[in-house]
Amino acid sequence: MVPTKEQIRDRLAAIKAPDGRPLPNSGTLSEIVVSDDGKVFFSIAVDAAAVKAWEPVRKTVEEAVRSVPGVRSAMVALTAERAVGGPSSAPQRAGGTPPSGSGAGPSGVPGVSSIIAIASGKGGVGKSTTAINLALGLRDLGLKVGVLDADIYGPSLPKLLAIKERPQTLGGTRLVPISSFGLTVMSIGFLIEEETPMIWRGPMVMSALTQMLREVEWGTLDMMVVDMPPGTGDAQLTMAQQVPLAGAVIVSTPQDLALIDARRGIAMFKRVNVPVLGIVENMSYFLCPHCGTRSDIFGHGGARHEAERLNVPFLGEVPLDMTIRETSDAGLPVVATKPDGPHAKVYRDIASRVRDQVQGRSRARSAPNIVIEA
Ligand code: ADP
Repeated sequence: MVPTKEQIRDRLAAIKAPDGRPLPNSGTLSEIVVSDDGKVFFSIAVDAAAVKAWEPVRKTVEEAVRSVPGVRSAMVALTAERAVGGPSSAPQRAGGTPPSGSGAGPSGVPGVSSIIAIASGKGGVGKSTTAINLALGLRDLGLKVGVLDADIYGPSLPKLLAIKERPQTLGGTRLVPISSFGLTVMSIGFLIEEETPMIWRGPMVMSALTQMLREVEWGTLDMMVVDMPPGTGDAQLTMAQQVPLAGAVIVSTPQDLALIDARRGIAMFKRVNVPVLGIVENMSYFLCPHCGTRSDIFGHGGARHEAERLNVPFLGEVPLDMTIRETSDAGLPVVATKPDGPHAKVYRDIASRVRDQVQGRSRARSAPNIVIEA
């Protein structure tokens, strides 16, 4: 039997924060996530100055969680994100997103209004291509946009934007992101050799991600687009929990199999209380470049159908098209290099729906309750 969050929380009550308070009352715990197969994740957000004092607590917590019957593994991260000033200082979140659950959510990135994740249930569905063209579409709507390539297993941003340069450091500690096609971009791929096989263990994934979010001079952004690693494993769940997301866009191909994966993706974001902004159907239909005939080679429309069934917005369909593949693989994304073409329009339409979803959700959150008295 998989334990409940409450059982985990009860176990934590016996552990004390460095100031002597029982841990659950210290205001530092994020939401506790328990996966269906008994893996437990959460983070402890503390003042940067207090990290040393907290490290032994983190270890004790991880061991205690592991000892709860039914727990298969535990991953507890210490995040030093709060402004110095005590655990009572409220964590900031991007886009005005309320903290998830009852604990402290991940804090926002200063200067960044909204962060959205682009995710897919599996690799090869065109997630990265969609992420970059969507980011360019948002740019065309007049937004200041950043792209964080968090696909640590297969970073594709350097290739998608044909970037060879390396980011400079500022004062030896902070990284300066790279500007490309009017986007502010950062990828782990800028920092490692292209062919280096990377073996990532859970805590490394989190610290790499935290660094790319918080130790990069992102500047002021209306929206940050995060290209997530494909799949719905531990790393993705941890990341979805660690990044203060305003919402997630799921990319899927029309095939049934990909949709099953997409469904898993949606379930994953729901589990960590991240709103699903909608589904994009990629490689939706084939437009013959010679005769202009449209062929629905994969039985197009599956994603729209699935979106309706799951009650999430359908954001649009992108054709399977040589121009998209060629421009994407040549580092010349189609929205930037063929802005007047039909593909750019498809992505811009998707971008405006994504923007509306993000704005609509933040308005809904901040809207006052209007009471009409009779
Ligand atoms: P993922 O990030 O899901 O692994 P990529 O964005 O890297 O997928 O795309 C995988 C391959 O499919 C790339 O060669 C890319 O150029 C191609 N591709 C993506 N979307 C389309 C599309 N709509 N039409 C044609 N090729 C596409």
